[in-house]
Amino acid sequence: MLVETEETLIEDRLQRLSLREKVGQMTMAERMSATPADVAKHGLGSVLSGGGSHPGNNSPADWVNMNDEFWAASMGSETKIPVLFGVDAVHGHNNVFGATIFPHNIAYGAAGDATLVANMARVTAREILASGLDWNFAPTLAVAQNCQWGRTYESFGADSEKAATFGEAYVTKLQNEGVVACVKHWVGDGATTHGIDQGETALDWDTLEKTHVSPYYPSLEAGVLTVMVSFNSWNGDKCHGHKQLVTDVLKTKLGFEGLVVSDWDGIDYLDDDYNAAICKSVNAGVDMFMVPEKWRDFIEGLIREVEAGRVSMDRIDDAIRRILRVKLRYGLFDLPRPSERPLALDPNFGSAAHRDLAREAVRKSLVLLKNEQEVLPLDSSQRILVAGKNAHNLGHQCGGWTISWQGEKDGAKIAGTTIWEGISSLVPSASLSQNLSGTDADPQQHDVAVVIIGETPYAEGFGDIRPDDNILVEAGSMIQGSMNPLEPYARTLQLSQIHPEDLACIQTIQKKGIPVVVVLISGRPLVVNDELAASTAFVAGWLPGSEGLGVAEVLLGHSGFEGTLPLSWPQGDVSRSGGNTGYEVLFPMGFGLRTSS
Ligand code: BGC
Ligand code: BGC
Repeated sequence: MLVETEETLIEDRLQRLSLREKVGQMTMAERMSATPADVAKHGLGSVLSGGGSHPGNNSPADWVNMNDEFWAASMGSETKIPVLFGVDAVHGHNNVFGATIFPHNIAYGAAGDATLVANMARVTAREILASGLDWNFAPTLAVAQNCQWGRTYESFGADSEKAATFGEAYVTKLQNEGVVACVKHWVGDGATTHGIDQGETALDWDTLEKTHVSPYYPSLEAGVLTVMVSFNSWNGDKCHGHKQLVTDVLKTKLGFEGLVVSDWDGIDYLDDDYNAAICKSVNAGVDMFMVPEKWRDFIEGLIREVEAGRVSMDRIDDAIRRILRVKLRYGLFDLPRPSERPLALDPNFGSAAHRDLAREAVRKSLVLLKNEQEVLPLDSSQRILVAGKNAHNLGHQCGGWTISWQGEKDGAKIAGTTIWEGISSLVPSASLSQNLSGTDADPQQHDVAVVIIGETPYAEGFGDIRPDDNILVEAGSMIQGSMNPLEPYARTLQLSQIHPEDLACIQTIQKKGIPVVVVLISGRPLVVNDELAASTAFVAGWLPGSEGLGVAEVLLGHSGFEGTLPLSWPQGDVSRSGGNTGYEVLFPMGFGLRTSS
């Protein structure tokens, strides 16, 4: 579309909107808190589904029907501006039953191949379109500096260039397929002191720019339509109220023309007074507000702030132009209702072809850290025992942001193949330890054991590792006492303390003289010195998602190990090392042993 035509259309629409209608467009509610009738009445600009929030029985048809209703409501409103529906499809269309669940981004950092990322984006887009939605809050461009951070797995690792290249590959493919992308979280989310989620990023501008701003450049260049602001603060000031970062840098200096969206209730931390918080964030340059449940208060509050002269009409109009521009560039005004869009209910949703691409990513992301006696690759003539709590658990294997926000404790709601099922399909004679603990290992019956261990699912701050609560205060993360940190995953990075059952399982088998191949399922490096010492081979498997066969294929030598560490692996707890650097490294970034297939 010619820019001139686009701008004319925008101005024409803008002229016809009242203040109340403009504010409605700037509002994003959660689907549980706003009905289609609310969308019609208030002309809401967008609706989201939070992690795990799903309609009906969570089938693609349920989603299409739901968005048909929201869309029809928006078209029946006074403004007739179609609503945008957003979702977090951060490793495949992970909220929906039957979707292909890809490995989390950290695994893509290990695989180091932008084509794999583009494949994930293409399939994710198609599965999103199959369920009738418009907007994906992905990719995350965070550059993780401290693996105590619970969101480490959402990042491609510690390398800014990788975040830049992979982010661009994802954005370009997702948007070409017809889904709006959202780069997040602007900015510095991966650099908070001690890795505290939503914490304080204390860096000078040059370092922030070089490491955390630069990954956004290629995506902005490629025309990413939306940017999400981050919960963290930069040198004491929350990004949600940061005019310099949002307006001066992103919009003015970098020329971003799309819309800036706030994170989930992210404006709450700006001021105890809600209206003052709204005012601060709008004036900082945020255009669309993710106010999941408080959207009514937001609408009334913003109208009041404008009427009081604390927010200018120019600022409101800038927000509206951007929101309309995104909807126009995405083509939303020309799209029929969701159920009539070309890929609605596409039968390829969760298909074998989609899963093959996820499985390829799994194979290429595994990092081999130890391989004594060349025990790997295994041979299908060997008598293999499989044990460990993560051997046969799709929920654990997929991690957080799968069906539910915090992830699933088992696989009942996930379609896929566990690692055990993968091994047993390639080696029918393999056996699964009865209670997974390996006590039934028998050197007369087993030549080798594969023990699959590691973390259980978590998302965001629930995944943080925090030795104590003082660390929050020390790190300057309690801004005006208003930060509300979530309960951490653990007090230490040391796996033998977090999950002693894992080391017990390895040792039980190893003491019987059976060589043990360990596969660690985790969103990040953990301190695994004890587990490494007791194992013959050790594989970092990350959070592989629904296709466990990919892990089995590499263990059995159908493909070689290709992955390398996307961030360094600590030797001891990093928490007392003074922050994000200076800890002792066991394996450096880029490390990864090879086997031939
Ligand atoms: C997360 C975002 C996410 C949003 C919507 C927030 O808590 O920080 O990454 O897009 O929720 O689910
Ligand atoms: C939602 C997530 C969101 C989180 C933020 C959860 O209830 O499901 O999408 O990121 O709240 O606190």
